[in-house]
Amino acid sequence: MRGGQVAVFLIMTLVVILLLALLNVDTFVAVRAKNRLQNGGDAAAIAAARRQGSLLNEIGRLNIRHALAAVRNDAAGCEEAVMLQRRLALLGPVDALRLANEAALKNKMEVRDEFSIILREHVMAIRTVYSGGGGAGEPYPEPYPGAWADYASAIDGVISGGLAVGPDNVEFYDAAAGHLLLNRQFYYAIAGSNWCWFHFNAENVLRSYGSYRDWGPLPSRRENSLDNSEIFSLHVTAYKGALTELFSKAEILELLRRYGEGAADGFDFAKKIEDSLLVSDKEQVWFLYDPYHWRRWFNGTALADDEDGYEFPVVGEVKPEYNVRGCAAICRCVSRAVMTSTDTESDLSWSAAAKPFGTVESIEGQTDVANALRNFVVPCFTSARLVPVDSVGGENLATADFGWVHHIRHHLGPYLEHGPRGAEACFYCIQLMVWEREEFRRAGIKWLETNAGGCVRGTGGHGGHGGTSHGH
Ligand SMILES: [Zn+2]
Repeated sequence: MRGGQVAVFLIMTLVVILLLALLNVDTFVAVRAKNRLQNGGDAAAIAAARRQGSLLNEIGRLNIRHALAAVRNDAAGCEEAVMLQRRLALLGPVDALRLANEAALKNKMEVRDEFSIILREHVMAIRTVYSGGGGAGEPYPEPYPGAWADYASAIDGVISGGLAVGPDNVEFYDAAAGHLLLNRQFYYAIAGSNWCWFHFNAENVLRSYGSYRDWGPLPSRRENSLDNSEIFSLHVTAYKGALTELFSKAEILELLRRYGEGAADGFDFAKKIEDSLLVSDKEQVWFLYDPYHWRRWFNGTALADDEDGYEFPVVGEVKPEYNVRGCAAICRCVSRAVMTSTDTESDLSWSAAAKPFGTVESIEGQTDVANALRNFVVPCFTSARLVPVDSVGGENLATADFGWVHHIRHHLGPYLEHGPRGAEACFYCIQLMVWEREEFRRAGIKWLETNAGGCVRGTGGHGGHGGTSHGH
């Protein structure tokens, strides 16, 4: 080879090496960003779940304190305990968000405006819609007087400094689930022409749908959840009734001996329970696990949503660990990754879920493990662990996902009135435009006529949209 050829060859080799190096840097940067993101999201979820466990313990201790007050015929003590419980159930989980945010910041997660925008809009809704202010109509019933004002300013306080984490399992009272348009899976099924999803979930709609005028109105409010925070709900319920409707007097004594920290040790305590009027007062309020949420997820096979049967609290360690739905915290973190070689930016996102765990023993002589303590909340939570996001029902909510929340809040209303528009390149609006085409739906009906028999539940993922991420 002549000198010139050698030089050209060397230069070409150098270019190849440089390109490879750049690609490697990209991969390295991406992997490192993803790892950091996962650590941040995981830490945030665990911090929130730990607080959920301690809140449930506080609510449980107050149940016992309330029972002791009832036995002593101390009406003011009873009322005070319930008031504290109501505040804890509504405001406590907002504090879990604060702790999750601290954990995320400690892990150097980015403060993202989108997280606070979603919640700031919601604080507005609490101050207007919930409170019945500004001609917004009937206020939502408050768990205690002044609750909505407390609740709005608690959330305000947490978001005011900026959020590096978004709560991804939020159940807004004014955006109930149950409508197909509020189901993310519906949009993913359209995007992926996943007719099997329609076969299992919405075949009637696929067959009978004519146009956007056929949709029923969006549900206006959830039933039965106003006792809880919408963010990281503890899923407890304020049950009104006599303690003697939940337990026999012998069981009440056993309960107070076990959790009363010595307060029930007096020799005449059994007689006190006998004589107490408040123990059998039907106007008392006790905090119970909401049996719809505090139930088994697996029973050999996963239980369908409409199947009942719950088994919490249980005797012994829960295995597998995530076998009770109960309450959980799902945290989303997002970071902007820059690809140096192509100079492009993209958002990476990670959602992690964690749950508090604990054990409780059933009352002596009671063999029905499933109903140990009859859903009565007692202090029994000892740890918080990561769980798979979809095991706690969070996949579908994704309430820290700005595009999704924005679609529900700002696009669905106009869509129901005027039909579909590809609003600002919104992924979900684009699917609605596809859905509105009759040929599209007819193709699905035709496909199912010959292929429905081969459909398997749970097939078809998310059509590769966005950074769907599952925790551990
Ligand atoms: Zn939209």
